[in-house]
Amino acid sequence: MRIDCLTLFPEMFESPLSHSIIKRAKEKQLVEIFLSNIRDFSANKHNNVDDKPYGGGPGMVVMPGPVFSCVEHIKTLSPDEPRIIILSPQGKVFNQKKAIELSSEKRLMFIAGRYEGFDERIREGLGAETISIGDYVLSGGELAAMVIIDAVIRLLPGALGGEDSAENDSFSDNLLEYPQYTRPEVFRDMKVPEILLSGNHAKIEQWRREQSLERTRKWRPDLLDGQDNKNPNQRG
Ligand code: SAM
Repeated sequence: MRIDCLTLFPEMFESPLSHSIIKRAKEKQLVEIFLSNIRDFSANKHNNVDDKPYGGGPGMVVMPGPVFSCVEHIKTLSPDEPRIIILSPQGKVFNQKKAIELSSEKRLMFIAGRYEGFDERIREGLGAETISIGDYVLSGGELAAMVIIDAVIRLLPGALGGEDSAENDSFSDNLLEYPQYTRPEVFRDMKVPEILLSGNHAKIEQWRREQSLERTRKWRPDLLDGQDNKNPNQRG
C-alpha cells in the first residue's frame, strides 16, 4: 500500500510513523508513506496557502490552488489511482469497519486541513471522501490522519507479529473485547477470574464471549443496536 499525506506540517508525522507496528510494516515493505508540504505548491511569493473567507467571518480558509497542484503532482508519482480522504470534523465518523475497508486499497491520500478548514471546491473538485475521527474539533488534520493510518496499517496482512492479533480486537464483531489479565494472579487483593486459570479452553471461550456481550451492553449499547456511526451529516 502507498499512503500520501498532504499537510502544512509534515514534520508532525515523523515520530508517530517511525515506531512499533508501523515501523515494522514499513520495513517489511507492506506500506510506503510519503509526506508532502502543501505550502511547496503555493503560487505566490509569500508561500501563502490560505486567505480570508468570502462573506466574512473569523479565521482563514485553505485555498484550492495549492491543494489541487499538490494532489495533481503527487498523483503522477505512482500509477495507482488514490482514494482521496479529506480530514474534517464534518465527515463521517471513522470506525473499525472503515479501517477494514481502507486496508484493502492500494493507495490512500490524506489531506490534512488547518485554520478554519478547506475551500469547499477542494472536496467537490477532487471527488474526495470526508472523514472525521470524532465529534470534537482539532487544530489540524494531521493527528486525525495518523489515527486512521495507524488503524489501517495494523490490519495489513503481516503487519502484526505473531504475538499480536487483530482478530479478537474490540469492534471486530461489533463487540468490545473481553477483559484481559496477566501476572500476578493476585494484585492488591484483586484476583484473576478463576475460569482463566482452569485450562478449560471451551469454558474460557464461552466466558470471554459473555464478558464481551456484557461489557458492550453496559458501555456501548449503540454497537449492539447497530446505531454506531449514524452521523446525519455523513458525506461521501
Ligand atoms: N472550521 C472547521 C469546522 O468547524 O468544521 C474546523 C477546522 S479545524 C480547526 C482545522 C482542521 O483540523 C480541519 O480542516 C481538519 O482537517 C482538522 N480536524 C479538526 N477536527 C477534526 C476531526 N474531528 N476529525 C478530522 N479532522 C479534524
